[in-house]
Amino acid sequence: MISIASRFTRETFDSHATVFRAGDPGDSAYLVESGQVEVLLELNGEFRQVDVMGPGAMFGEFALLDRLPRSGTVRALEPTVLMRIDRSFVDGLLQTTDPVIQYLMQLLLERIRNERSKKPGVAPPQGARVSPASAALHGLGFAEPTKVSSQLHSAAVRTLSLSRDLSEAIAGQQLELHYQPIIHLQTGRLAGYEALVRWRHPTQGLVRPDEFIPLAERTGLIHPIGRWVLGQALADWPELRLLCQSEETPFVSVNLSAPELSVEGVADSVLGRLEGAQVATGELRIELTETTVIGNLEPVTQVTQALCRAGVGIALDDFGTGYAGLSYLQDLPFSCLKIDRAFVSQMLTTDRSKHIVKLALELSRWMGMSTVAEGIEDEACARALTEAGCTYGQGYHFAKPMPLQALKDRFSR
Ligand code: C2E
Ligand code: CA
Ligand code: CA
Repeated sequence: MISIASRFTRETFDSHATVFRAGDPGDSAYLVESGQVEVLLELNGEFRQVDVMGPGAMFGEFALLDRLPRSGTVRALEPTVLMRIDRSFVDGLLQTTDPVIQYLMQLLLERIRNERSKKPGVAPPQGARVSPASAALHGLGFAEPTKVSSQLHSAAVRTLSLSRDLSEAIAGQQLELHYQPIIHLQTGRLAGYEALVRWRHPTQGLVRPDEFIPLAERTGLIHPIGRWVLGQALADWPELRLLCQSEETPFVSVNLSAPELSVEGVADSVLGRLEGAQVATGELRIELTETTVIGNLEPVTQVTQALCRAGVGIALDDFGTGYAGLSYLQDLPFSCLKIDRAFVSQMLTTDRSKHIVKLALELSRWMGMSTVAEGIEDEACARALTEAGCTYGQGYHFAKPMPLQALKDRFSR
């Protein structure tokens, strides 16, 4: 909340004071709180009034979005109070927006600016140089690509082409399942694994799940991908299981996305597949991120309760990143809490991270849950977590995610 508030500032202008001039860098938009402003465009050294705006109106938003200099001048007509909205605020919102939407918005802005600049009597922005190529594009009604729009264009093209190619990934056998060992910290023994999907794209190389899982979630492809992941993990399980050394029940953890939880009968389908593969329910864990849980409480409650009753473990993933209260923990049957890498990696250098990790460990003890610390990258961190009573560790210090064969090479006794 503090960061949002700091990006809005109130500015007061006397009558006839200039808010900004054509050609100024555009780094903010304004909301008129009280008073009135006029928008002026300059033609042949003369200013022409093209608009007057009062309370509630917004101006300056074009430059904020497309980063080109201001195309007009704005002056107060009377004592005026404006709310200034900084670009950093809008940038923050844009970064979380789909790249295709960002690109389409950019194109739209360029077209509108272009149309405006073609209107008779309206001059191009002061100081703007119009190249012959740009003039030709403008003549055809196309906006000349700016540096920003060509970056957005590349991102949008990548998103669109990856979305198209993803539908062929399963049939084309381009998906691979890697397993990251989870270590019992007190004994140092291999206790289980997290299954992590990889996409070996025929031309783009290895695409990170962080990039293609969100695409799969938006396009619905997460359903066949999720089914493939579970099927592959269950098929590999007899061999994976043999490598485990811990005295407790060995397990493989599979990540489930929010859209997968809303499918009718998902718990029955998971249980049916366990039965078909003759895998004991206690040997499967489902990982749900805190964000998924908070945003989908109803289906999460149904699915987790059904799976838990049957003996499947439920792990709360990325704990501490969901910015939520803890009330959901009262009603949901989590058997394991995974402390996010963001806190684990900093627990020896930052007091706040150390306190959060300690709190998570205490909370899970009170609630009878085991704990996995994610992202352990060195011995000191592993030792501190063992001493603090964390059950399991996962991270590059022990092993990176790897294919079944690599695990067999490393862990076969
Ligand atoms: P996650 O569930 O939090 O998985 C842990 C991620 O942390 C993995 O990234 C793993 O490679 C990485 N990691 C593990 N130890 C360390 C460490 O010591 N240091 C660092 N820097 N990183 C470490 P990965 O494999 O790229 O997966 C990213 C995310 O993609 C996963 O985050 C998960 O949310 C999602 N994902 C992966 N596979 C699947 C899947 O089959 N289904 C679904 N729905 N999501 C998946
Ligand atoms: Ca996970
Ligand atoms: Ca995680």
